[in-house]
Amino acid sequence: MSEPPSRTPEVDTHCPYCALQCGTRLADGRDIGVTVRPADFPVNRGRLCQKGWTAPDVLAAADRLTEPLARAPDGHLAGTTWDDALDTVAGRLRELRARYGPDAVAVFGGGGLTNEKAYLLGKFARLALGTSQIDYNGRFCMSSAAAAGNAAFGVDRGLPFPVTDLATADTVLLAGANVAETMPPLMQHFDTAELVVIDPRHTATAQRAKLHLQPAPGTDLALALGLLHIAVVEGLTDADYIRRRTHGFEAAVRRAMAWWPERVEGVTGVPASVQRTAVRMLAAAGRAYVLTGRGVEQHSQGTDTAAAFINLALALGLPGSGRGGYGCLTGQGNGQGGREHGQKADQLPGYRSLTDPAARTHVAGVWGVPSESLPGPGRTAYELLDSLGHGQGPRALLVFGSNPVVSAPHAARVAERLASLDLLVVADFVPSETARAADVVLPVTQWAEEEGTLTSLEGRVLRRRALLTPPPHVRTDLEVLHGLAVRLGEPAHRYPTAPEDVFDELRAASRGGRADYSGISYPRLDAGEALHWPCPDTEPAHPGTPRLFLERFAHPDGRARFAEVDHRGPAEHTSAAYPLYATTGRVLAHYQSGAQTRRVAELNGVVPEPFVSVHPDTAARAGLADHSLARVTSARGSMTARVRLDATMRQDTLFVPFHFPGDGRANLFTHPALDPRSGMPEFKLSAVRLEALPEATP
Ligand code: SF4
Repeated sequence: MSEPPSRTPEVDTHCPYCALQCGTRLADGRDIGVTVRPADFPVNRGRLCQKGWTAPDVLAAADRLTEPLARAPDGHLAGTTWDDALDTVAGRLRELRARYGPDAVAVFGGGGLTNEKAYLLGKFARLALGTSQIDYNGRFCMSSAAAAGNAAFGVDRGLPFPVTDLATADTVLLAGANVAETMPPLMQHFDTAELVVIDPRHTATAQRAKLHLQPAPGTDLALALGLLHIAVVEGLTDADYIRRRTHGFEAAVRRAMAWWPERVEGVTGVPASVQRTAVRMLAAAGRAYVLTGRGVEQHSQGTDTAAAFINLALALGLPGSGRGGYGCLTGQGNGQGGREHGQKADQLPGYRSLTDPAARTHVAGVWGVPSESLPGPGRTAYELLDSLGHGQGPRALLVFGSNPVVSAPHAARVAERLASLDLLVVADFVPSETARAADVVLPVTQWAEEEGTLTSLEGRVLRRRALLTPPPHVRTDLEVLHGLAVRLGEPAHRYPTAPEDVFDELRAASRGGRADYSGISYPRLDAGEALHWPCPDTEPAHPGTPRLFLERFAHPDGRARFAEVDHRGPAEHTSAAYPLYATTGRVLAHYQSGAQTRRVAELNGVVPEPFVSVHPDTAARAGLADHSLARVTSARGSMTARVRLDATMRQDTLFVPFHFPGDGRANLFTHPALDPRSGMPEFKLSAVRLEALPEATP
């Protein structure tokens, strides 16, 4: 077991929440607790959002998990020792594997785990458990943009340029990204740019826009096709760039030509004149960027939608040209690194494919096992959760850094599947809703108690540093994996517990891969070097790659690919029974499933309970007034929320934040239809009805 880091008065580290990874300086004020202040770091330049300012509060959460818990015969979770907890888990995993085979045991990771944890979790699943059944909650976040980026550019790095490049833009198109609420410090980089915002809601970001396109939910793909159509018809495309640097323009345009502005207006509701203005603003800009977010990506046609916006950026000659670019705004703290190092169902470290024989040979060599012993790809996140406990599905699940009871679509179904398992094990630092359903709960360290690295939305690898010594009976996730692996018969040296040792192994495993970290080291990061991957291990030392695609794209021929995509429409439409659309998203005060931010009094004071934003006329038709209690019901289920009247909402659309548990879970009504290429669920569109509830109903 590794020595806990010594207590130091101040450290430079990064916010534990989103992928912007604002730089912070933490101080241990002893009597007053941990304090945070923003560092002068390029992405946040001395600013933090409210979540960042209050992040230390979670370190002192009243219900912090401080000892392992096991389900007692009376059904309650009771304290136990680490040896008992790990012996119990390992023993039951062995039994289930012996009886049903290795795929009877599954692993579910998270996009907030450090690179070291994500890497070791993937290795643990494939070697210690021998299972193919591993995926993670980043599938619900980044998978559509990742699939589209890989297809177009040959590599998926959220922003293939530093965040600070955005400050040079004349025009930025933000499609489905409410940056002003989800990443407020990023907005300062748009101070001099004209914003074009595509969002069904008049969000805080849309309020800052020069132009707001407000399409009907689920129609972003038609809109993106229409924007390409206008660029072509008005002669605004960059013919020289298209000829020199891309393939597939003609096929993509053939699809787009069926989406003339008036047809797009009929489908999306966005006036043809507004569509034309948006394209002209982008084309006329000296520097222009097209950025997508979850609003357009979290759909069953999310990959094609992201691809259609990439098509637009390529047609205008932006990516890699020095005149702007395309990027997707990664969500979770390590949403970028978390999708590179092997906790995805189809992936090996270094962003390698599990089905590529050369990749299997390389990684197996680093791990000291034959490549044939590595399992193949498993189920994607929702398919995995949906398969638990029945048929050929897994009988046991280990959850690290995720709270799927709140964050997965069709949440009641997921909770039912979790309850049917023979064994549910959750490693977390607070009793999340998923931890409360577990048979065994393993208390692990938080951000300010651990060392490691994360990779931000711009592909820069960052050091997380420990300020505090963890509570006495709390272990790191790396120590948990080590303890379980050894009990499952693995050699101890295969599961290092020191983060730097794990990172050094990750570097070797990533060498030569798309996300090559081999030239990045803790000493280089600690010396303050800004290292963006790929950063191969070269002599002299490679400086990292802040800007991708300047010379060539990552496909073997160096060219980007247009995608031949067409609008299919959402998985369900409104009907007499469900006459409204509901879309879900985040608010400034909360983060993801809310397991952390709901434990911060200041944030709870801002948004203490679930709400549903409704146009006043829509509310009146349902007999609802401001602050009255409402039920939102889809074909999957119902949730309850307090009405917030909002005259900027479309009359056919409701908005519900997804941060709340119990009956307030937005995911009780969301649709589990999956994007066929990425496995992304249809979070952003459900057909629902809105009804008044008597005040007494909780
Ligand atoms: Fe933290 Fe993101 Fe807020 Fe920055 S923008 S302080 S990284 S939550």
